[in-house]
Amino acid sequence: MTQTIKSKVLVVGGGPGGYVAAIRCGQLGLDTVLVEADRLGGTCLIRGCIPSKAVIHAAGQFEAMARAAQAPRFGITLDTAPRVDFAATTQWKETIVDRLNGGVRALLARAKVRVLSGWGTFSDAKTCKVATAAGEIVIVAEHVILATGSTPVELPFLKFGGRVISSTDLLSLQALPKRLVVVGAGYIGLELGIALRKLGVEVSIVEAQSQILPLYDAKLVEPVRRWLDRHAVAVYVGAKVLGLNSPGDAVEAETQQGDKLTLPADRVLVTVGRQPLTHGWGLEAMAVAMDGCFVKIDDRCATSTSNVWAIGDLVGEPMLAHKASAQGEMVAEIIAGKRRRFDVRAIPAICFTEPEIVSVGQDLNAAGGDATIVGVFPLQANGRALSMDAGDDGGFVRVIARKSDHLVLGIQAVGQHVSELSGEFATAIEMGAVLEDIAGTIHAHPSLGEAFHEAVLKSLGHAIHI
Ligand code: FAD
Ligand code: NAD
Repeated sequence: MTQTIKSKVLVVGGGPGGYVAAIRCGQLGLDTVLVEADRLGGTCLIRGCIPSKAVIHAAGQFEAMARAAQAPRFGITLDTAPRVDFAATTQWKETIVDRLNGGVRALLARAKVRVLSGWGTFSDAKTCKVATAAGEIVIVAEHVILATGSTPVELPFLKFGGRVISSTDLLSLQALPKRLVVVGAGYIGLELGIALRKLGVEVSIVEAQSQILPLYDAKLVEPVRRWLDRHAVAVYVGAKVLGLNSPGDAVEAETQQGDKLTLPADRVLVTVGRQPLTHGWGLEAMAVAMDGCFVKIDDRCATSTSNVWAIGDLVGEPMLAHKASAQGEMVAEIIAGKRRRFDVRAIPAICFTEPEIVSVGQDLNAAGGDATIVGVFPLQANGRALSMDAGDDGGFVRVIARKSDHLVLGIQAVGQHVSELSGEFATAIEMGAVLEDIAGTIHAHPSLGEAFHEAVLKSLGHAIHI
């Protein structure tokens, strides 16, 4: 028999958008039901951010040991080259996922959120049927938060299956391929392609645009490009993938100049973007307006249907976990009666490549020119970077400010370990810092943060260490 339950708030999707929204609703005393078909944590926790960063970390450890086995480093020698058992790496990664998944479950329970495990399907904007293991449950809610996330884009001429895999498949592999072809040099392709190269896999990358990581300005991407060259990763930019060859063991592509490429591959990782998950759960029954392929929202994440809210990857770029969470938290507060708008100045972005890239606010593609001043400080001149052997890969910190009043418009960095600077960069921009605010802030020594301080001093014309 179908059971019907009523709730103040129904959240569909337990990723970083949905579960954060549900926890915040619970904290605010709103009777909340969360529906998740898979494991709690969503793409980010189960098959995205966390698993990929775990593999990237393991790959870094392996590479450091492999280098020490080749030649002494820092006075340390390894007598034997390391070996990797990728099934064990995948298993270790799963223990981290399990731990965090359990944490999310516990946090939801503490916030008194009722979690239903099963696929939700709407019959109208406020009524959702969930197929749970214990039978069908219908939820009738006053407010609905849609947080169904996204799925990988499939290329019609390179469909997933066999040796053609998505990031989800790669993160579950039990053995490393000998040769990997990556299609799409965006976030996922480069993060995972570089990790597998560190683990000894032969990697080739095919990118349709004229540069890798086309989202970032060319100067920021240059150190990553150099790492790929130094590590014999074949990169084909401006190239068109045609499909697999007829035996199915190589990717065929065409360069900008019209030359044909045949790239042997044991696995082909297709990472050409992600698309919002808008089908298969009754969105069409909710009379919600669309903005292209995304659900259309206003600056409160309200859809065109009253009391239906949408957040995260479902509503557009940037498809980042922290954006989804920030929207989720905001919507919960709006439902609870607070006045909130999503009017952030900047959403930080980190690319966990080698070296890492951080960008907050406007970069040289967006700002630059006569109306701005730019300060750049190389990590080569930063004591902390050198003491971590992280100063010689062309990394730098850059600040871009408005010339007229020195308002900081953008801050970027490329280099090892710079991801941890993202919080300071975002705080500066969010608080409307001017260059003099940063210049007047004492930065601890030795730290990478000093490179930010020095980039600002440089923009003001009086850097100390360069
Ligand atoms: P999702 O996390 O996709 O969650 C949606 C959930 O809804 C899923 O669990 C799904 O099962 C569930 N669901 C959907 N429909 C239904 C239904 N009808 N009924 C029940 N349940 C349903 N972002 C970063 O910020 N940093 C990173 O380092 C990063 N790394 C990434 C690495 C990889 C390999 C990938 C693939 C993504 C990465 N991302 C990263 C992106 C990040 O994962 C997403 O931006 C984020 O997960 C979006 O959160 P969300 O809540 O909108 O959706
Ligand atoms: P992406 O948008 O970052 O990169 C896709 C790349 O594929 C682009 O460079 C694009 O030009 C290229 N491309 C598209 N069609 C192609 C084709 N036919 N042949 C060759 N190249 C082609 O997408 P992604 O790497 O799949 O990642 C999806 C999203 O996940 C990202 O946009 C990001 O929001 C999120 N993500 C974030 C992080 C992070 O924050 N560190 C990490 C991974 C994923």
